[in-house]
Amino acid sequence: MHKDLQEILLTEEQIHARVQELGARITADYAGKKILMCGILKGAVTFFTDLARAIDGPVLFDFMSCSSYGASAQSSGFVKIRKDLDSEVKGQDILIVEDIIDTGVTLHKLVPLLEDRGAHSVKLATLLSKPARRKVDVPVDYNGFEIPDAFVVGYGLDYDGRYRNLPYIGVLKEEIYTK
Ligand code: 5GP
Repeated sequence: MHKDLQEILLTEEQIHARVQELGARITADYAGKKILMCGILKGAVTFFTDLARAIDGPVLFDFMSCSSYGASAQSSGFVKIRKDLDSEVKGQDILIVEDIIDTGVTLHKLVPLLEDRGAHSVKLATLLSKPARRKVDVPVDYNGFEIPDAFVVGYGLDYDGRYRNLPYIGVLKEEIYTK
């Protein structure tokens, strides 16, 4: 385990098994349709690529980037689009792929935005969800794991740009983000 972690919350094996399950469900739900997978940069990239490979059917890749926590472990509650999708959204079946839903503020803004652009459908897949922290309601179609209120890193998730390449998900020691 990385020395900056307090504990490992989800192992590589647990994550892999759950992603395969989600992929199988998505494959069945979207049978006969083409999915426009919209990954939220940068945290969702690892989940996105594993999930895409667990889906047996046609998928297109696109990405967008929203304001994130930066060098802080607290959400600003303010959402800004830094990089928009390249694709035409109109008529597409969109699957937003997010790393973690915390307060829900980011997705609460993004889902209606894509619906307003004329998407045929907009669904949401997230690897992690912290229900105890929710401020606004976000309907999640595919949820990997519900986790407690702790700041986690690894498998794409960072703190100040670090730890994204850890293959598992762990709770960061408080002293790392409070010093
Ligand atoms: P929300 O808008 O739901 O509050 O925040 C979603 C975003 O906050 C996520 O995409 C992620 O970038 C960041 N975030 C929320 N909780 C955590 C966490 O425990 N660890 C990390 N690394 N990022 C988090």
